Amino acid sequence: MNLKLWTNCRAATMQQGAVQPYGLIDDAALVVDGEALLWVGPRSDLPPELAARCGEKHDAGGALITPGLIDCHTHLVYGGDRANEFELRLKGAGYEEIARAGGGIVSTVQATRTATAAQLVAQSLPRLEHLMAEGVTTIEIKSGYGLALEHERKALSVARELGRTNPDHGAHHLSGGACHAARVCRAHR
Ligand SMILES: [Zn+2]
Repeated sequence: MNLKLWTNCRAATMQQGAVQPYGLIDDAALVVDGEALLWVGPRSDLPPELAARCGEKHDAGGALITPGLIDCHTHLVYGGDRANEFELRLKGAGYEEIARAGGGIVSTVQATRTATAAQLVAQSLPRLEHLMAEGVTTIEIKSGYGLALEHERKALSVARELGRTNPDHGAHHLSGGACHAARVCRAHR
């Protein structure tokens, strides 16, 4: 058994009835046994015999340690990007103006429809990796930019493929679902 000790951290224990929001402990210690959290609490309460059994000791550098984050509604499968619209908005363009110029959500729907599943996987993977790097461990990917059965189905197959090929998929759970995005529908009519 290789126990790992983490100190110099704040911990969000999510303990019910805790005085601090999120059950926060400011100067916490965590003892991890493989994938299991064996002990968490104020560092001053850490039993010395337990600390002595820890083969690895880590300094968390003052980081906040939380349970894995759950993103239960994300539309990360879509084609194209609308980075240029960001600049237009900064220059004062309104959404209607951008949409008239061929931008807006309709442009995302078009790009999603014309992209192949393989292209969508390639475009979506960095978005997925970005979320995971921020501590998200469980994701529900919603379709919604296809707005027609074949394209929604393609988006969901991309979501499934991301879950299947993700090297960390053992620790990260992905599932897909359809989302009827009212704003997209309005824009598309
Ligand atoms: Zn949605």
